[in-house]
Amino acid sequence: NMADQHKIPQATAKRLPLYYRFLNNLHIQGKSRVSSKELSDAVKVDSATIRRDFSYFGALGKKGYGYNVEYLLGFFRKTLDQDELTNIALIGVGNLGTAFLHYNFTKNNNTKIQMAFDADPNKIGGSIDDVPIYSIDELEDKLKDVQVAILTVPVSVAQSIADRLVNCGVTGILNFTPARITVPDGIRVHHIDLAVELQSLVYFMKHYPLETLE
Ligand code: ATP
Repeated sequence: NMADQHKIPQATAKRLPLYYRFLNNLHIQGKSRVSSKELSDAVKVDSATIRRDFSYFGALGKKGYGYNVEYLLGFFRKTLDQDELTNIALIGVGNLGTAFLHYNFTKNNNTKIQMAFDADPNKIGGSIDDVPIYSIDELEDKLKDVQVAILTVPVSVAQSIADRLVNCGVTGILNFTPARITVPDGIRVHHIDLAVELQSLVYFMKHYPLETLE
C-alpha cells in the first residue's frame, strides 16, 4: 500500500505510475534490463532524479548493467497495489466524461470505471463500453464499494456532488471541473484543470523557452 511507504517522498510516489507503465512495456517486449539513460529518455525525467527515486526502493543500478526490469516491476506492482482492483465511478457523462468511459484505464493498472451517473434523462439507463449510466438521484443507492470518483460535471454542481460522494464513502476524487472543492480531512482531491494546464504550457513556452543542446 502506497500510503504505508512513508519513506518514499511524494514527488517520487507521483512518478511511480510513469515508471511502471514504461517498465511494463519493456517487460512485454521481453527486455530484462534497462539503463537509467534509456529510462530517462522514455519518461522524460533526468537520470539523477531516477537514480534517487530508485534508491528509495533499494534498486541500485549497476554500472554497465542498468536496472533489472523484473525486480522493479515486482516492486512497483506491490507498491501501486496493482493486484487490488480500485473501483471508480464517473459523475457527468458529457464530452469529457464520455471520452473517459471509452478510454481503457485497465490497460496498465487495476483501476476500472464501474458505473457512471448523470442528470440527463437521455443518458440515464444507457451504457458506454459496458459501463452503466445511472441517474444522479440514485447515487446513494448504487454507489457501493467505490473508492474513487472522477468528477466531470458542470462547475455549478461540483461541490454538492462532492459532498454526496464523500457521504457514500468515496475517499479520492479526481476533479476535472474548475471548482475548488472543499472536503473533510482524510479525503484526497486531485485537481486537473485542462484549460489551465494548456494556458500554463503556452505561458511557459513564451516566457521560459527551453534551451536546446548544440
Ligand atoms: P455535453 O455536450 O454532453 O453537454 P459537456 O461536457 O459540454 O457535455 P457539461 O455541461 O459540462 O456538458 O456537463 C457534463 C455532464 O454533466 C453532462 O452530461 C450533464 O448532463 C451532466 N450533469 C449536469 N448536471 C449534473 C448533475 N447535477 N449531476 C450529474 N450530472 C450532471
